[in-house]
This record gives sequence, structure tokens and C-alpha cells, in this order.
Amino acid sequence: MTNSLKVAVIGAGVAGLTAARELQRESLQVVVFEKSHQLGGIWAYDSRLESDLLGVDPKRDVVHSSLYKSLKTNLPRELMSFTNFKFCEKVYSDPRMFPGHEEVLMFLRDFASHFEVTKLIRFNTMVTRVEVVDSSNTKFVVESNTNGVNSVELFDAVVVCNGHNSEPRLPMDIPGIETWSRKQMHSHNYRVPEPFRDEIVVVIGSGPSGVDIAKEIAMVAKEVHMSSRSSLVKLGKSDKFNNMWHHPEIKCISRDGLIIFQDGFSIYADTILHCTGYKIQVPFLNTNGIVRVEDKRIGPLYKHVFPPQLAPRLSFVGIPDQSFPFLIIECQSRWIAHTLSGKVSLPSEDEMLSEVVKRYEEMKEKGLPEKTTHQLRFQLDYMEWMGAQTGMVVEKSIKDMAANFIQCIMTVGLDGCIDMFSQMYRSDH
Ligand SMILES: Cc1cc2nc3c(=O)[nH]c(=O)nc-3n(C[C@H](O)[C@H](O)[C@H](O)COP(=O)(O)OP(=O)(O)OC[C@H]3O[C@@H](n4cnc5c(N)ncnc54)[C@H](O)[C@@H]3O)c2cc1C
Repeated sequence: MTNSLKVAVIGAGVAGLTAARELQRESLQVVVFEKSHQLGGIWAYDSRLESDLLGVDPKRDVVHSSLYKSLKTNLPRELMSFTNFKFCEKVYSDPRMFPGHEEVLMFLRDFASHFEVTKLIRFNTMVTRVEVVDSSNTKFVVESNTNGVNSVELFDAVVVCNGHNSEPRLPMDIPGIETWSRKQMHSHNYRVPEPFRDEIVVVIGSGPSGVDIAKEIAMVAKEVHMSSRSSLVKLGKSDKFNNMWHHPEIKCISRDGLIIFQDGFSIYADTILHCTGYKIQVPFLNTNGIVRVEDKRIGPLYKHVFPPQLAPRLSFVGIPDQSFPFLIIECQSRWIAHTLSGKVSLPSEDEMLSEVVKRYEEMKEKGLPEKTTHQLRFQLDYMEWMGAQTGMVVEKSIKDMAANFIQCIMTVGLDGCIDMFSQMYRSDH
């Protein structure tokens, strides 16, 4: 493949910045489209709330970042690093092993300027349409809008890096939720605990954000009731907060607003806060049905990256979840860059497709829901495989730390693990 391919990268978050760096290293021509005025994606904290706090109204003013003000990383700096640019070797203003979000943004700005990626970014430029324009699937039209001015350009390849932690996902299967008339919001629009002072709050979801936010709200709220599907959550009163309880799922909500949990407990609450994760959305992409997005599955994607029929000219970075995003994103970006520069070949379209189909069938046999399609369950073999395609070596110390971190979470939970790691590896947490 020729070295002068013109490649559009959509988004300047971790994925877009890393993809741009790798593509540039392969001497490809790169243009990064970024709808915001700044880089960093989700790590660019935004105190604004969306006009619809649940995030379902398609006409709402969209805010990209889902961070809350007090958010600290839930992975150690070492596991949010790149091979030749390590977060653990950089300290800007927060030396902790699990620093606040501001530190991550400074690291990403530093990364972009060090590798001269910033100059490739067209800020305030929102991509509104990406379409294949020729039958050989080698030319894409990219339509974008910069401050109200539309432009249309042709590219040889497109790398989609638009993030998938911004579009609230709301499983509305709670009987009676449609009659709930009091406050209801998604964690995407949670910033600070103050609005919940003296309230009774029901938090749905026990992922890292749900747990973190519930604890923060418990500092000011009258009561916090967490509802979780997970069998790993210890039900009953919290050990650490005397105004927090853990319940199983909500059974139903009665017409007068009484929330009834499956453990028989019931309460009239002021607010329901959904910490139920995010959907994948690629609203600008039209592939005539080749790539389909359903809830949390996008596909078919070979190794979560290439749609076989459009490979290697169309690719996606950062789709896997339950993973180590920075490490995975770097391996994927290098694989895409080497594929586009011709250093690495992909299997045939049929082989790639049959691998995806096989995976879908295995999931079905095991009874795994489609929403788990891109969950890596923190397995390191995906990263190893991806790295091996380009000869990229993920250091043993990083792999060991990742494996230890996961083992630790399974033993003592995320909070306990963060404490243990901070003490074990450093003393400045
Ligand atoms: C609450 C929360 C906490 C997290 N904590 C951690 C953590 O501690 N450690 C960790 O490693 N990961 C964490 N993550 C995961 C995090 O999402 C990834 O680390 C990473 O930031 C994902 O980067 P991305 O580039 O894929 O997406 P994003 O950061 O979302 O970037 C996407 C970019 O694309 C731009 N964009 C989107 N659509 C368009 C368009 N049409 N045109 C132009 N530009 C567009 C957006 O403006 C944005 O800049 C967390 C996620 C959440 C939600």
C-alpha cells in the first residue's frame, strides 16, 4: 500500500491522539477532526450539564465529557501510559498514583505536543457524514462543519475515534419507571454532590462510577440506596456509611412513586440516579448497512477494529471495554497504522468475517448478551495478540502490574485495591 494515503481521524481523545501519532510515524497524511475547542476527549472536564439530565432527548445540548469534579483515575498511572511516553514518569501537579482527572488532561496535552500531533488537529470541527464513495471501498467522503461552515473532502482511509462513554444507556425495564415524576438523571450529568443535600437518592448500578458517586452523595444526602444486579455486592447496610444501603434490583415503582426493591425494602425517594453505562454511537457513519450499531455492539468488527468488508480503510479505536484503555488503544493504533502503510497484512475478508461470526455464535451458546460483545474482561491476551502483529512489546513489568491489579480487585474490590496499590508501589497516595 502506498505511503501517501490521506487518513481522517475522528476525535482527539486518547484514541484519536494515539492513532494520529502512529499514522504519522508511518508517514501517512493525517487530519484529526475534533468537535471541541480542545483535545483530551472525556478527560477535558466540563462543568456544564446537558439540557436533558437523562440524556435521551436527541435535541438536547450535548456535553461530551462524563467526568465528575472529584474523579480520580481508577487505574494506576503505569497502566495509563504509552510505550515511549509514560504517565508514571510525569508529574504535573498531582503526584498520586491514582491522580485527579486534571493530571490526565495535562499528560495528554503533553503527549500531543511532544509527538507534534496538536498541529494535525482541526478544532471546533464536527464530522457530520462519513461515506464510502467508490465500489472498491477505498475512498471516503468526510463532511464536517467548522463554526457553521460546511466542508466536504475525500480521504483514502478513516479511523473512527469518537469515544463511547458519552451517550447514556438507560435500561428502562423497571416496571413503573414511566410514571416516575420526580428527579431522574444519568451519571453522565453528575458533577458535584451538593444538589443532593438532604435528599433520599436511589443509585442504580454498581460499576466504578456508581460506587464512587454514591459514596460522594452519601456525604451530604439523607439516605442513599444502591440497587445492583451484581451478585458480588454485599447487600444490607454499608460498613463505611451509616446512611447507605445496598439492595438488589428494583422490582417496580408504584404509581405514587414508591420504589420497591426485590429484597422487599421500599422507599419514597427524591432522585433516581442511573449509573448504567453508555451506548456506542457513530451517528455520522453511513456504510449502507455494512457496519451496524446496536446498543453496545458494533460490527462486524475483526478484533474490535476492522469491518472485514471495508478493511483496512475503515477502522475503530477504543471500542473494547473492561480493559486497560491506554494500553489497548496504543496497540490497536499501531496495528492500524502498519496495516495502512502496508507493513502488515490482514487475513482475507472471509477469514475475518468468519472469525467474528464464530465469536457471535460462541457468545450465543454461552448465553452471553450482545451488550458484552466488546468486554475484554481485563484479559491480557488481546493486548498480547495485537502487539504481536506489529512487533510491539508491552513491558513485562506493565503486564505483571495489570495482572496483579485485576487479581487484587477480585480479592478486595476496587477501593481496597487502590489503597493497597498506593501503599505497595508508592507512599504518596
Ligand atoms: C467516568 C469515567 C471514568 C474513567 N476512568 C478511567 C480511568 O481511570 N482510566 C482509564 O484508563 N480510562 C478511564 N475511562 C475510560 C476512558 O473513556 C478512556 O480512558 C479514554 O479516555 C477513551 O478515549 P477515546 O479517545 O476513545 O474517547 P473520548 O475521550 O470520548 O474522545 C472522543 C473524542 O472524539 C470527539 N468527537 C466525537 N464525535 C465527533 C465528531 N462527530 N466530530 C469530531 N469530533 C468528535 C469528542 O469531542 C472527543 O474529543 C473512564 C471513563 C469514564 C466515563
